[in-house]
Amino acid sequence: MRKTVAIVGGGATALLLAAELDHKKFDVFIYEKNAAPGRKLLVAGDGGFNLTHSEKPDTFISRYTPSSFFEPIIKNFNNTDLRNWLKSIGIDTFEGSSKRVFPVKGIKPIDVLTAILSVIKQKNVSIETRITWHGWRNDQLLFTDDKNKNEFVIKPDITVFALGGGSWKVTGSDGSWTKHFIDQGVEVKPFQSSNCAFEIEWDKEFLKQAEGKTLKNLTLHCGENKKEGEVVITAFGLEGGAVYALSGAIRKQLSEEGHAALFMDLKPSISLTTIESKLRNRGNRSISECLKNDLNISGVPLLLLKSVIDKAQFTDPVVLSERIKNLQLTIKSAGPLDEAISTVGGIALEEIDENFQLKKIPNCYAIGEMLDWDAPTGGYLLQGCFSMGVGLGRKLNTSI
Ligand SMILES: Cc1cc2nc3c(=O)[nH]c(=O)nc-3n(C[C@H](O)[C@H](O)[C@H](O)COP(=O)(O)OP(=O)(O)OC[C@H]3O[C@@H](n4cnc5c(N)ncnc54)[C@H](O)[C@@H]3O)c2cc1C
Repeated sequence: MRKTVAIVGGGATALLLAAELDHKKFDVFIYEKNAAPGRKLLVAGDGGFNLTHSEKPDTFISRYTPSSFFEPIIKNFNNTDLRNWLKSIGIDTFEGSSKRVFPVKGIKPIDVLTAILSVIKQKNVSIETRITWHGWRNDQLLFTDDKNKNEFVIKPDITVFALGGGSWKVTGSDGSWTKHFIDQGVEVKPFQSSNCAFEIEWDKEFLKQAEGKTLKNLTLHCGENKKEGEVVITAFGLEGGAVYALSGAIRKQLSEEGHAALFMDLKPSISLTTIESKLRNRGNRSISECLKNDLNISGVPLLLLKSVIDKAQFTDPVVLSERIKNLQLTIKSAGPLDEAISTVGGIALEEIDENFQLKKIPNCYAIGEMLDWDAPTGGYLLQGCFSMGVGLGRKLNTSI
């Protein structure tokens, strides 16, 4: 007998689930509160639509926290599977120099969304927009139809929640769903910013000259974690791939100590001994000249060094070389939730079984960013969401 599946929320995760579900077995309905599905997908596409990463499977999985949760999910539908599937719907992809994967030139984010929606339409999935979910009334799902300003309830055979995280409210993922699950006794962890800016109190003179500038080819360390890449100096503090990737470690120190210590290696390719020897053996040249000519340290990196260390340290080759390799910056806070690329927090993973089914609410499942997991930018977020959608689709297809 055919079963009805209600997918609540119409983002990336929901769309891949709908595309995977077997339309011979299921009548599928997506309920989305915005006027159209996939709004965050389109926002994610602004400035480069990073659909996945081309890293090899083992290291790929290690990017996720917790990676043990993601191992079967990514193995079931990995980055190659995603690229092949996208190709099969007319979206060719390429690997950028950073190993991130994007649609080929000429394919815009809206084209990717349209291609996914056309698969779903061929499967006769109903997409009901401007419909907001408000929890349960008795054991039925309660919605408002925001066009006609009326309430209605439904009782599908299977309900899948894919309501998103807690950032970029303008896209619809405002996290207002959390209270409905808490009311059902489900543990929901508070949202926190991830892949976000971090606050640093810069020296005013430094900021005047460095705001908006990028520091490239450096390594950042926080606790045991390190990341090579680049960062952008902003009035608030630091942004960019290298610092985003350390979000988890920084968040941990912020919550334990109220601040976090971030260490910057401005010259990862040159050893401490070599730097010190060059500074010691500079002859009659000034330290700044030596930094510029022998170590290629000038402009913003030089300004940064001068703003963080005092004159006595700057002129001491031993101390200066140590600072070049290990410049400490103090992070005061994480950037605002709504401006974060992603959030951690949401439904605790202990609340779902290996099939994404909520242990306390029969026939209900939860997938996507609304679950409490983390991954860096670089395509891992969307791959995680897409893989969960496909994974649950396959499980439901074979369980009926
Ligand atoms: C600026 C930005 C850039 C990004 N760039 C990238 C990138 O390049 N690569 C990458 O991998 N990831 C990127 N991401 C992250 C990625 O877009 C998200 O992780 C992913 O879209 C989450 O998918 P989701 O389906 O879980 O949630 P969403 O896409 O947020 O979907 C949730 C849906 O649920 C709907 N909804 C919420 N509450 C209700 C309700 N009560 N009733 C009905 N509907 C409801 C929302 O309107 C929304 O459409 C970026 C994110 C941002 C904000």
